[in-house]
Amino acid sequence: MSETRHNWTKEDILEIYNTPLMDLLYNAATIHRKHHDPNTVQVSTLLSIKTGGCPEDCGYCPQAARYHTDIEGNDLMSVQHVKAQALRAKSSGSSRICMGAAWRNVKDGEEFDQVLEMVRTINKLDMEVCCTLGMITENQAQRLAEAGLYAYNHNLDSSEEYYKEVISTRGYEDRLETIDNVRKTNVTVCSGGIIGMGENAEDRAGMLVALSTLNPQPESVPINALVAVEGTPLEDQKPVSIWDMIRMVATTRIVMPETQVRLSAGRTEMTREGQAMCFFAGANSIFAGDKLLTTPNPDVNADMEMFKMLGLNPQKPFIKKMQPETVEAQDSQYQALGEKPKWTRPEHKIERNEEAKQKAKVLK
Ligand code: SF4
Repeated sequence: MSETRHNWTKEDILEIYNTPLMDLLYNAATIHRKHHDPNTVQVSTLLSIKTGGCPEDCGYCPQAARYHTDIEGNDLMSVQHVKAQALRAKSSGSSRICMGAAWRNVKDGEEFDQVLEMVRTINKLDMEVCCTLGMITENQAQRLAEAGLYAYNHNLDSSEEYYKEVISTRGYEDRLETIDNVRKTNVTVCSGGIIGMGENAEDRAGMLVALSTLNPQPESVPINALVAVEGTPLEDQKPVSIWDMIRMVATTRIVMPETQVRLSAGRTEMTREGQAMCFFAGANSIFAGDKLLTTPNPDVNADMEMFKMLGLNPQKPFIKKMQPETVEAQDSQYQALGEKPKWTRPEHKIERNEEAKQKAKVLK
């Protein structure tokens, strides 16, 4: 049985968020160490397979067709191109490829078939495959699952209240419905949000209420710091403070102990010391590669240098635990199909590598 709480309130979460920083860090790091190997960080590569021209109006996004940004749009990438990029990412230490398409929603047809082929192709490379393609139906989620999709990303972005200030072309309910459609399959859920869009601490807590009360909670939660892009409605937003980022990461870790918390957009603005504090506070996943869809990100060599300095190891694919409820759902689904799961379902224990075990012994 999972010990994860699904009844967090905004007041509970605000109290955690506003804890004196040293106590917050200590509490978050303690929970982190109980549920994860603190020296292992998952590395994902985000690949834009179809850039720009999106009909939505997300106020932070340079890919929205209605904003005047420098983004050059392109058509859907070929399967061969995606495969080459995936191999490159794998050789640089990534265990997951996340493919993003600037669509409002997925439409059945040639392009979706091509995405399914990309999923099958990357799956054969022994990498986890994630997609972020906008809204999807239950049937589309099922087809992605059958192609071997490991995770589907659909962010809630902010609290339900503040969401309306940033996006008008689709509602919070639409987002939750897509997450629900993904949950009806064996695909894991990745959903998080952005801080620094002008929201207050209550909105940040509100977003964490929405995510942590999902049952199961998302397997991954990306925490992004807004990258204000010229030409978007949020172009004048000041960069978010590193202290806010650390508080947000630590609070996410406390309310979603089993989840992989991903330090996502905005890392180019953070020092290594700041990122190290985020890892200590419970972040255990990053995006690698010099671009995050269209915004800048640290170079992969610089990240690997940072990992070396901090003694961090990239996580291997398919070893991370899923939320216990997801595993239960998978069990019954596979039993009904009379099949075995495609990937090795992880056991609910902390996987430490030998080197980390030795170091722990020395410290004792
Ligand atoms: S965030 Fe996604 S849905 Fe929103 S405008 Fe950008 S590409 Fe479109």
